[in-house]
Amino acid sequence: MRAYHEDDASLEILRNKTLGIIGYGNQGRAQALNLRDSGLQVLIGGIGDESARQAEEDGFSVLAVAEAAERADVLALLIPDEVQRQVYEEVLSRRLHPGQTLVFAHGYNIHYRLIVPPADVDVIMVAPRMIGARVREAYVQGGGAPAFVAVAQEASGHALETALAWARGIGATRAGVLETTFAQETELDLFQEQGLWPLLIRTMLLSYEFLVEQGFPPEMVALEMYGSEEAAEIFREMARVGFFRQMRLHSHTSQYGTLSRAGQLPFAQDLRGFMERAMAGIRDGRFAAEWRREQAAGYPRFKELRAQAEAHSLNEAERKMRQILKLESE
Ligand code: NDP
Repeated sequence: MRAYHEDDASLEILRNKTLGIIGYGNQGRAQALNLRDSGLQVLIGGIGDESARQAEEDGFSVLAVAEAAERADVLALLIPDEVQRQVYEEVLSRRLHPGQTLVFAHGYNIHYRLIVPPADVDVIMVAPRMIGARVREAYVQGGGAPAFVAVAQEASGHALETALAWARGIGATRAGVLETTFAQETELDLFQEQGLWPLLIRTMLLSYEFLVEQGFPPEMVALEMYGSEEAAEIFREMARVGFFRQMRLHSHTSQYGTLSRAGQLPFAQDLRGFMERAMAGIRDGRFAAEWRREQAAGYPRFKELRAQAEAHSLNEAERKMRQILKLESE
């Protein structure tokens, strides 16, 4: 797999170009500020709402989305994935011109062909593996968030160079950039969301419900499971020192208990089956079709699932735990 760092990327190809960013949310704001601080010319395409006001306050020129699309040489679509297709069809598709570059921060819409750009534009991806606020924070501190880059469509002969320049502009090459494809980035991202996190979330909820049944105070369980941030610390140390090596920061009893029981899971084959089904639905487009139907219907199941999550007793336990820890509630 090809990796790129600061010395492998140059900003030159973007120097005299106008960079347009549609959307000024999580990624939009962070990337716009970082690119400008890297000495590049950035304008924002907005719909005249709250985030457009924020962009103006931050000193950017904010144009209508259509005008930004016409003016920008390199245009990033940093609006929610669910609205990209509509914005593309209604506003952008008629305004793109040969030689432009379209930048995505996630491969979804291109991979599932919900957006099909004309053949005479470059289509690239620069996908930070980090939430926007940290993309900005890391940059300001002299670092950066790692990212994946990919080229879906090469028209100019310089698409990868542009992607690497953008990655450098947002600070990603300071950390490290991996070259991949739109397909792999999309599948990996969706698998993480549908094949791994459901297992972690469900296991934690089962554990919470079991412990409460066994007579442990709910707020104590919430604090032990994740509220003290020990769990967050474990994940941070996995990244820093290693998945297994971080265990050395814990007691011998903890290490022995975890390692000896991890191998005893009787249903590992079932978990694999769950993962295989998740990956199959991602690869054959069933999930993407389901999600589109859900959007078209006004999100009935999504709303129901969120309501169920909000009604879970863990929320009340957490409220008490936060009072004890004197943490502000959301
Ligand atoms: P956000 O949800 O933060 O984007 C919100 C922005 O999009 C706001 O400026 C919002 O305006 C604007 N917007 C919403 N609807 C429209 C519309 N119909 N027309 C024009 N603008 C609109 O998005 P993210 O930054 O989370 O995601 C952007 C891209 O980055 C996605 O492709 C995502 O997958 C990818 N990504 C996101 C990461 C993250 O940290 N969240 C991490 C890596 C990649 P308003 O103020 O009106 O709501």
